[in-house]
Amino acid sequence: MKITDIKTFLMMAGAPKSMSGGKPGAASWSSRNWCFVKVYTDEGIVGLGEGSGWPRVIQTAIEDLRPILVGEDPANIERIWQKMLVSTMGNGMTGTPGSGAMNAIDMALWDIKGKALNTPVWNLLGGKVRDRIRVYGHASTPERALELKELGITGVKAGGVSGTVDKVEAIRKAVGDEMDIMVDAHGPPWFTTKDAIMVGKALEQFNLLFYEDPVPPDNVDALRRVQENVDIPIAAGERHSHIWGVRQLIEDEIVDVIQPDSGRIGGISQLMKLSAMAEAHFITVAPHSGSLGPVAEYAAIHVLAAIPNALILERVHDDVPARYEVIDPHPETVNGYIEVPDRPGLGVDIDEEVVASYPSQGNTVRAGSPDDNAYEPGTFDEHVYYQARYRRQKTMRRTR
Ligand SMILES: [Mg+2]
Repeated sequence: MKITDIKTFLMMAGAPKSMSGGKPGAASWSSRNWCFVKVYTDEGIVGLGEGSGWPRVIQTAIEDLRPILVGEDPANIERIWQKMLVSTMGNGMTGTPGSGAMNAIDMALWDIKGKALNTPVWNLLGGKVRDRIRVYGHASTPERALELKELGITGVKAGGVSGTVDKVEAIRKAVGDEMDIMVDAHGPPWFTTKDAIMVGKALEQFNLLFYEDPVPPDNVDALRRVQENVDIPIAAGERHSHIWGVRQLIEDEIVDVIQPDSGRIGGISQLMKLSAMAEAHFITVAPHSGSLGPVAEYAAIHVLAAIPNALILERVHDDVPARYEVIDPHPETVNGYIEVPDRPGLGVDIDEEVVASYPSQGNTVRAGSPDDNAYEPGTFDEHVYYQARYRRQKTMRRTR
């Protein structure tokens, strides 16, 4: 079998509800994009993948990779992966744009292999450890947490660093001890390591499943300080690429939970290697979703089905209608779990007409209201450190 062509499908994934009520064009609106890829073969089998990390950039990167991929036998996934890595050396070998593009291709190659052998991807990865994958949702209010509990979801994550302690206390009171609660600080650059420790210590009493990205990903020593000073399992990894990006987090046991993004870590091949590295250190795997599209979610499901150290999958349930419209079938959450699919390959396809109906737009946060994930009114043009000083008091008003 030979690869004959590669096509990319970039779509605007819609504005999440939390951003200006989901109205594109509003001053504070910031969009998300998804980039899907199809790898075509001379035997008529087509593989589907997704790459994240900055989807509009990923699309161009994939198009640059096309000439070195056409003519290759898609069965040789590791060979092709190494070829992509070496061919892009001149652009730098670390970072999510390169690994996001390689991620999309790698995922599509596993899809082709599964379809060619008429078996699901999880079977190619060693078979199933479990038949269903536990998922968690996002909740920043007790009401939302209870709504998800009603649906059978058994874990919720509150985001941000503003008023987090109050938020978590209210959610814990509402849902009781049966639900797992997580906190994602999103590692903002203006949140100091000491801030992260103070908030973390205040959160210890709520028995969290994990405390995620308490500091920015660029300083591993800072994360180590949080790990040493806060008695909550520490989670990180969604912004890293490749096994080398997470090596120190795992080998030095700086995280308890590793959170690869199945759109930008480098593909299913890298997810499997990373999971084995983590297993050797008794670290569990909880893939990142958030801004990811629904094809990358399938990749995470197949990997979590096959590895022993799967913890839980992040799942955005109802952010944008496009999530449900663009793929078929859409995995249902039943009693807090997703059934592992039995179809050949990844077991999912995209609707190209739906992709075309959501033209891509920009990918950056703009000026607007902080409630809409934007900068404070009138401060967008200020020096970045102004943002830090402006927000700290609000953030730290209660840490006990
Ligand atoms: Mg996160």
